[in-house]
Amino acid sequence: MVVPIKARADSRKITLFSLGSAGNRPKMLRTPVLGRSFQKSSGFSVLVKQMWGALRSHLRRPGQWCSQGPCAQRNRNDTLHPLWKGLASIPGGTRQSPINIRWRDSVYDPQLKPLRVSYAAASCLHIWNTGYFFQVEFDDSAEGSGISGGPLENLYRLKQFHFHWGAANERGSEHTVDDHVYPAELHLVHWNSVRYRDYKEAVTGENGVAVIGVFLKLGARHEALQKLVEVLPEIKHKGARAAVGPFQPSRLLPACRDYWTYPGSLTTPPLSESVTWIIQKQPVEVAQSQLAAFRMLLSSALGEEEHSMVDNYRPLQPLMNRKVRSSFQAAEGGIRGNVTSDTKKRERDHCFSHRAFQLRGKETTSKKPQ
Ligand SMILES: [Zn+2]
Repeated sequence: MVVPIKARADSRKITLFSLGSAGNRPKMLRTPVLGRSFQKSSGFSVLVKQMWGALRSHLRRPGQWCSQGPCAQRNRNDTLHPLWKGLASIPGGTRQSPINIRWRDSVYDPQLKPLRVSYAAASCLHIWNTGYFFQVEFDDSAEGSGISGGPLENLYRLKQFHFHWGAANERGSEHTVDDHVYPAELHLVHWNSVRYRDYKEAVTGENGVAVIGVFLKLGARHEALQKLVEVLPEIKHKGARAAVGPFQPSRLLPACRDYWTYPGSLTTPPLSESVTWIIQKQPVEVAQSQLAAFRMLLSSALGEEEHSMVDNYRPLQPLMNRKVRSSFQAAEGGIRGNVTSDTKKRERDHCFSHRAFQLRGKETTSKKPQ
């Protein structure tokens, strides 16, 4: 049985998430386009933009409508996922995540340095079911796996990676691009090991965390992901843990390393506004059977009433006074000009610039089958 878990929010409260069934949700609603005249930076227009951001969140995804509406208030105390209990009325921040990335509003920043990724397959520890998603942990006691460069001033060590996904392919990703929702999203979570002693300290600290986000779209079977998929039956219930063996996380990254970056927050409690987000432009392909394996997991422990682990994404948050920067320039023909939806789709699916992402060392040498 699947029990919907919902939370409420208004424009001044941090919006939470929904985790539950696909049943009884309204149809997808189209988001209207805000005229540019609304975007002047007066106090009034900022207020309008904030309210609009909240309204857009309501309109965007069917899984989020109910999570922010009256039905959610009714059910909040009974069905809220334990992860979110006690947090339903915390004050809203100014840089919460996830967001909708508006391609034409993102700004190409030629000052963005190349992002360097250096992951060691041997630092992979295990995979486990947290009750909210499944997570692959890494040994972060030494400089084994980490990222630097790009928008980052320091070296950030890899702590873990996990996914968010929907009960159906029409939803699941936390971030969206021009209102496009992907069926799932990967998050590789790193912490600033130059400024902080450990992840716990970094998570609430300034520039403490950097997360790489990768969209998953339906297509060919992903061979590296398959290694994890095959272990999932062993961690069906909350709290279960299994060995993975050496695993190279860079194999989950897309070939094209163009990205957007913006200042944001964790999308799960404590929702700390300490995250530099690095969202990959190009999605990776996964098979329907692989997403189906995600959806077979349970958010309940062995012996408890069974709850499917689906729709474990947080609703979109207002952009507020933030700019999204891109490591890449729009393709010839101009994403800012008269661009057709076909052109945008090609931009979304393919890479036009490999300038901003460099591979090095361990990552490039570890591409043998594992
Ligand atoms: Zn996440």
